[in-house]
Amino acid sequence: MMIPIQPKELPPKKRAASFAEVVQLYSEEEALKEAKRCLQCKNPPCIAGCPVEIDIKKFIHQITQKDFKGAYLTIREKNDFPSICGMVCPAEYQCRLACVLNKKGMPYASEEAINIHFLERFAGDYGIKHSTKGKGLRIKKLKNKKVAVVGSGPAGLACAGELARQGVKVIIVESLHKTGGVLQYGIPPFRLPRDILDYEIDCLKDLGVEFKKNLIIGRTKPLQELFKEGFSAIFLGLGAGVPAFLGVEGENLGNIYSANEFLTRINLMSAYKFPEFHTPVNIGKQVVVIGGGNTAMDAARCALRLQRMSGFKPDTTILYRRTETEMPARRLEIGHAKEEGIKFEFLVQPTGFIGDDLGLVKKIKCLKCRLGEPDSSGRRSPVPIKGSDFEIECDLAVIAVGLKANQLLTAVTPGLKTDKYGNILVDKNMQTSLKRVFAGGDIVGGEGTVIEALGMGKRAARAILKNLTNSTS
Ligand code: FAD
Ligand code: SF4
Ligand code: SF4
Repeated sequence: MMIPIQPKELPPKKRAASFAEVVQLYSEEEALKEAKRCLQCKNPPCIAGCPVEIDIKKFIHQITQKDFKGAYLTIREKNDFPSICGMVCPAEYQCRLACVLNKKGMPYASEEAINIHFLERFAGDYGIKHSTKGKGLRIKKLKNKKVAVVGSGPAGLACAGELARQGVKVIIVESLHKTGGVLQYGIPPFRLPRDILDYEIDCLKDLGVEFKKNLIIGRTKPLQELFKEGFSAIFLGLGAGVPAFLGVEGENLGNIYSANEFLTRINLMSAYKFPEFHTPVNIGKQVVVIGGGNTAMDAARCALRLQRMSGFKPDTTILYRRTETEMPARRLEIGHAKEEGIKFEFLVQPTGFIGDDLGLVKKIKCLKCRLGEPDSSGRRSPVPIKGSDFEIECDLAVIAVGLKANQLLTAVTPGLKTDKYGNILVDKNMQTSLKRVFAGGDIVGGEGTVIEALGMGKRAARAILKNLTNSTS
C-alpha cells in the first residue's frame, strides 16, 4: 500500500505570524504519487459522497496521465470552484469518508483515504495558472431569459454559473462591496488566498455573469421589483449572516465581539494586512474564543496572528463546552490551531462576563461540564456541573456559537414562507412558496458547508432551467 502524500505546510511559528497561506499546493510529483494511490474502483463510492457529484475517479485518472487540463475541465463540468473547494471543503466528512481506502467505522475520513481535495486543488490551480477559465465547457443558448441571483456566496455563485453556461443572462446582486459571501468576509486568507477566490469568481464573468454590488434587496428595493425589471426567475442565496449570542450577563461589555464582526473587520476591512492598514479591531493580550466550529477556529487563529504581528506574547484560548471529538470544525483546522499555539479548554461553559471600571471585559465566569446523553445533533450533550464555578481572565472575547438566518429580505417579503428559525421553506426543487422564486444555501439549510451550498445552488438552477424551458415552449 502506497503511503498517503500530505502537502507541505508553512512551519507553525512562521505561519502564525502572518496571514500567508498555510497548506501548500502539491508539486506535480506529489500529485502524481497521490493520484496513483487511487484504486480506480469499478463503482466508486466517493462520487456519491460529493454533493455536486464530481467525477472523482475520472479526474484522478487524468492526473495520473498528466492530463491536468482534462482533470480541470472534468471538475468544472460539475463545480466552477475547484481551487476554493480544494482548500475549504470538509472532504473528510464527504467524498473522502466514502472512499474505499478509508478505515471503516470512523466519524470522519482516516489518513488512508485518497486526498481528493488536495488533488482537486492541484487541478484547480493548474486551470488558474494556464488561464483555462472553462474554455471548452459547453455553453448552450437559452436566449431572452434573465435571472436575478440575490447573494454572492457559494449558493448564489453556483446557481449563477449553472444558468450562465446554458446561455441565461444572470445578474448577481450583493449587499456588500465584495463578492463571495462567507468566502470573502468569513474565511481568512491563510486558508483561502484572495487571489484564488477572486480568480474563480471572475471565471463566472467569462460565462457572462454580471455583478451588482452594494445593493440590498428587501425594504428599499423589494423582491417583486426585480420581476418588474424583466427577470424571469429569482434565486435567493442570502446565507446565515446573523450571529447567535450566549444570552448571559455582561455580554454587552466592551471588547466582546461576535465572530462575524471580528472576522469581517479582519478579512473585509484589511486588518490582516497589518501594519499596512491601521487595524480596525482591538488586539487582545489575553484572547478567549467561545465555540467549537470552523468560525471559532478561524477567529482564534486570526487573533493569535494579530497578537504575534503586534509584538504581544501569543495568548489565545478556545473554550468549548463538549470535547474535541464533538467539535464540528474541520479536523485539519483543529490540528493547525493546536500547532500554532492556540490553547483549548474543553467541557467549559461560560455563564457571564465581568467588566472593569471602563466597561471593558476582564473576566469570564464559567462552569465545568461533563458529557451527557446525545442530543438532537447526535452529539453527546454538555451537562454543567453544579458548584464547579471558576473564572478566566481575558481582555478580548470572541463569541462563535453559531449563525442564524439573515432576515433582511424575508421579513419584508409578503408570502415568502420561513420556518421558526427564519430559514426559507423550499420543496425538493428548491422552489419557495413564491412563484418563480427559488432559494438555497444556509438560508435554507441553516449553517452548512460550502459544498452543500454549491449543491443547493446547482439544484435550484436545474429547476429554474426547467421552468424557463417550459415557459419558452
Ligand atoms: P453566504 O456565504 O453567507 O453568502 C450570502 C451572501 O448574501 C452574503 O454575501 C450576503 O452579504 C448576501 N446577502 C444577504 N442578504 C442579502 C440581500 N437582501 N441583498 C443582497 N445581498 C444579500 N464551510 C466549509 O465548507 N468549509 C469551511 O472551512 C468553512 N469555514 C467557515 C468559516 C466561517 C468563519 C464561517 C462563518 C463559515 C464557514 N463555513 C465553511 C460555512 C460556509 O462558508 C457556508 O456554509 C457557506 O458560505 C454558505 O453559503 P451561502 O451562499 O448560503 O451564504
Ligand atoms: Fe470532495 Fe468537496 Fe471536491 Fe466534492 S467538492 S470532490 S466533496 S473535496
Ligand atoms: Fe479512488 Fe477512493 Fe474513489 Fe475508489 S473510492 S475511485 S480509491 S477515490
